[in-house]
Amino acid sequence: MNVAEALALAEAALPRREGIPDPRREGVWLLARACGRSDTWVHLNPGAELAPGEESLFRDWLERRAAGEPAHHLTGRCPFWNREFLVTPAVLVPRPETELLVDAALRSPASQSARVLDVGTGSACIAATLALERRGWNVTATELSPEALVVARANLCALSVAVGLVRCDLAAALRGPFDLVTANLPYVPTADLAALPLEVQHDPPAALDGGADGLDLVCRLVADLPRLLAPCGLALLELGEGQADAVADAARENALEVVRRVRDLGGCDRIVVLQRAGAANEANHEDTKGTKNHKEEHL
Ligand code: GLN
Repeated sequence: MNVAEALALAEAALPRREGIPDPRREGVWLLARACGRSDTWVHLNPGAELAPGEESLFRDWLERRAAGEPAHHLTGRCPFWNREFLVTPAVLVPRPETELLVDAALRSPASQSARVLDVGTGSACIAATLALERRGWNVTATELSPEALVVARANLCALSVAVGLVRCDLAAALRGPFDLVTANLPYVPTADLAALPLEVQHDPPAALDGGADGLDLVCRLVADLPRLLAPCGLALLELGEGQADAVADAARENALEVVRRVRDLGGCDRIVVLQRAGAANEANHEDTKGTKNHKEEHL
């Protein structure tokens, strides 16, 4: 079997459906990893013959993929912000939406030596990316699941990036202040879990289940932000559809305010950015005294 035949087989074996919007693309991803090659090599070598071991691994993956196992779980790797992360069933597979959170964090006016906290880090995709993209940032990440911590540690090692890993519930073991707090916590309402696409159901329930309204953990973290955030610090939280207003209410109850919402391609307010109520004014005031205004560019 050659590469072109293998890709044709993938398209025949993977029915296009909600969880498999682009069978050919998934075929390329699986084939490249089965052959230990890059996606580009697959595109450029349609006539290359597969070794018997490569072909049988590819056929096995196609069968399991058709039955609903996500391609990233099969290969144990997932792309995120131009890098590949190790993933296992112990962690949420990084999603493109979470790249919006990273993008918002990188665009924030945090200083070159910002103290950054990523809460519930899972694979450490957010923490590692921020530390790699901003070498001066001092990044700490927390995670409660020991199995997820093993994956996080492996990714930090593989990417040779220094991030402090702490095992605790949300940020319970840490003291602020942090200039940036990021979190992609579980936010799916418990009742919605069973109706998630087959692929999402392969993610660990502990990384998805956010309680009755999906916001149990998010609201617990919001209530802790006044303790964690530096005076002009920002918190960036990933949310599910229709949750931004409830989080804005929770923020208000904790003397915080939403300063920005970032929409995803589906038009959902996916990321909210919080800071202490009135912090923008403080920054402006400081600016008139000659201190760098951290807020202007952001707002
Ligand atoms: N993005 C996941 C989904 O597809 C949910 C992730 C989370 O709960 N943080 O529903």
